[in-house]
Amino acid sequence: EKEKSLNFIEEIVTEDLKAGKNGGKIVTRFPPEPNGYLHIGHAKSICLNFGLADKFGGETNLRFDDTNPVTEETEYVDSIRADVRWLGFEWENEFYTSDYFDNLYEFAIQLIKKGLAYVDDSSAEEIANLKGSPTQPGSDSPFRNRSIEENLDLFQRMHAGEFPDGAKVLRAKIDMANPNMHLRDPLMYRIKHAHHHRTGDKWCIYPMYDFAHGQSDSIESITHSICTLEFDVHRPLYDWYIEKLEIFPSHQYEFARLNLSHTVMSKRKLLQLVQEGIVNGWDDPRMPTISALRRRGFTPSAIRNFCERIGVAKRDNLIDVGLLEFCIREDLNKTADRVMAVLDPLKVVITNYPEGQVEEMHVENNPEDKESGSRIVPFSREIFIEKEDFMEVAPKKFFRLGPGLMVRLKGAYIIKCDDFVKDENGEITEIHCSYIPESRSGSDTSGINVKGTIHWVSAAHAEKAEIRLYDRLLIVEDSSSVGNDFKKFINPESLIVIRDVLVEPSLKEADLGTNYQFIRKGYFCLDKDSTPDALVFNRTVTLKDTWAK
Ligand code: ATP
Ligand code: MG
Ligand code: MG
Repeated sequence: EKEKSLNFIEEIVTEDLKAGKNGGKIVTRFPPEPNGYLHIGHAKSICLNFGLADKFGGETNLRFDDTNPVTEETEYVDSIRADVRWLGFEWENEFYTSDYFDNLYEFAIQLIKKGLAYVDDSSAEEIANLKGSPTQPGSDSPFRNRSIEENLDLFQRMHAGEFPDGAKVLRAKIDMANPNMHLRDPLMYRIKHAHHHRTGDKWCIYPMYDFAHGQSDSIESITHSICTLEFDVHRPLYDWYIEKLEIFPSHQYEFARLNLSHTVMSKRKLLQLVQEGIVNGWDDPRMPTISALRRRGFTPSAIRNFCERIGVAKRDNLIDVGLLEFCIREDLNKTADRVMAVLDPLKVVITNYPEGQVEEMHVENNPEDKESGSRIVPFSREIFIEKEDFMEVAPKKFFRLGPGLMVRLKGAYIIKCDDFVKDENGEITEIHCSYIPESRSGSDTSGINVKGTIHWVSAAHAEKAEIRLYDRLLIVEDSSSVGNDFKKFINPESLIVIRDVLVEPSLKEADLGTNYQFIRKGYFCLDKDSTPDALVFNRTVTLKDTWAK
């Protein structure tokens, strides 16, 4: 493979290492907030952070950014761990921002002592009113010039639980006229008498993201703190805290987030879909979450490959979900065993085949993988084929079955259609064929050339299954164009269930996590709802891109 050029963050790291910065070390972190399941956008960040450490001999920490007690849950922590591991990455350390609540409290005291932080009694509304606008400077709060002693006393009493929620905040004393709104005396701490999933009721004040993130990076000696573009306006504040506290100088770098077509990615919106029952849980295979993609049959390597292909840039764009599907198709084409399943069955009686006879056909598993061997598929006098593979009046280039036409049954014989039966409604109920005994696959001496090969299952041996076909979650390409109205654009065909599908008997032994190609029909995998008596398969992706552009 040809050498890939470095992305801009890899270039920065290369330069830093060359210059001997940070003692020639690189440490990154992946910092999810445990308020939902990870999605494909997070996968981009995971691949980038862990990929950098892998490439340059560094380390990556998994840090749960759990500063918001109200929305965070242990269920999410567990799912995040499982998803990162499944993607193929292992973290050096597992940390929680809440582990640093004592450090952060100390940092706040230090800034108060330096005259760089103050307790403000203003309401949220009053604070907002004094903030000014991007074109107009803000004004000082009446509490801005409290003495250091008073601030220390009040902050300690905030910590001790003397005040109700919202009564006071701690703010950094920076510059109410700064053109960057984030530097207009940003909040550091708010009062929240809430139970935290790890620290319980120990705290009733919680740090804001900006006051927690950089210092947590610094405590862990993170060298390259990578986040999405919208945080570039926060960087001066990130640097300000680190500089004033004189702690390890972590640096923040921003890259363009992944936006994917025909879906939503914000956890808040995904949670709405789950809570309102529009989808069946976080791992509903239509969701863009890692757990949904896994359930749908996506592989870690396809997702990593997708992240590699989309690259790392400094400009936002919209990636077509077709690229993600291309990546899984490419992977499964190489690795998935081929099997036969008939979605819309039509009975075929092979009139010259002995009644009661069963032949074991050896059918190759994967022509793309010579190691994959073959399996046994039973063949008998009555089989099922797809309805669409028979036409009463066949056009010229129809290389399947019609009166007098011949076709090869995959891995078995050539058959010729002699007759068909219709019911009173004119529906074709079965067709009658004869087989060519010398045409058995692998030992064909018939000399007959047929253009078409179709899949089939033996009527006496087939298993019944339900299959679930998935398509785009939204009918709108760019969900950012519809904002909170996204639920009005759910694709009504995003899930189609087909019952009474007939699958070859080998699929009775299908395992969760194994991918199959149902030949001519797409890639499928067993769903977790499946039981030995009621098989359920998910379609991972179609064989070809069928989405009308
Ligand atoms: P959401 O808006 O979906 O809730 P978030 O950014 O609030 O996302 P976090 O749990 O805070 O979610 O994200 C953890 C990390 O993943 C952050 O570093 C964040 O920048 C990154 N990340 C989140 N969404 C994307 C995305 N769409 N593309 C790339 N990186 C992302
Ligand atoms: Mg976040
Ligand atoms: Mg968020």
